[in-house]
Amino acid sequence: MSIISKKDLVTALLASFLFWLATQIVTAVFTGSWMWVINSLPLNVLVMFVFVIVLSALIFLRYRQLHAKRGFGMLWLQGPSNEWVTLDQLFPYAGVLWTVRQFAPGFRSIGNRENLKTTFVNSFDIVTPPRCPECQTELEQTHQFFGGYRWECVQCGFKKRNRLSYYREANRTLKILRREAEIDFERREAK
Ligand SMILES: [Zn+2]
Repeated sequence: MSIISKKDLVTALLASFLFWLATQIVTAVFTGSWMWVINSLPLNVLVMFVFVIVLSALIFLRYRQLHAKRGFGMLWLQGPSNEWVTLDQLFPYAGVLWTVRQFAPGFRSIGNRENLKTTFVNSFDIVTPPRCPECQTELEQTHQFFGGYRWECVQCGFKKRNRLSYYREANRTLKILRREAEIDFERREAK
């Protein structure tokens, strides 16, 4: 585990850039000459400027992508149901959408004394095949000759290459979903 995370590094970089930008603006305001500021910038600073803009845009897009996933609301814990309940909302992971289902047994098996949180978290399951991110049709999977898999939508032509099969990606999706369920449960208990 590294001491400085990538996020901290990016924050530091952005902070120093904003500080530099602020000093430039203050200088421009006090000297009253904006052109002087631009003309005085060396080429490498301009290149750096463009680089930082592009980097900021990438970070913003990545943030939005991650944030969108957090938008998966777990507020629909129904009472005990003795059958699988398929949720309306699809869970995005690995560039495709996954069907989530929930099973909350009304009974407690003997010798399996789980707390409420574990019961809630383990009530979720991911269904294969995943669905197309464009039109939500179930995807088809073919094994590639040189390794990896190809997922294809027979409805709209969406194609995606993936190193792992969708069965393995479903397991990973479930891990992420269950962790989010844990966070959601803790958040609701804290209220
Ligand atoms: Zn499609």
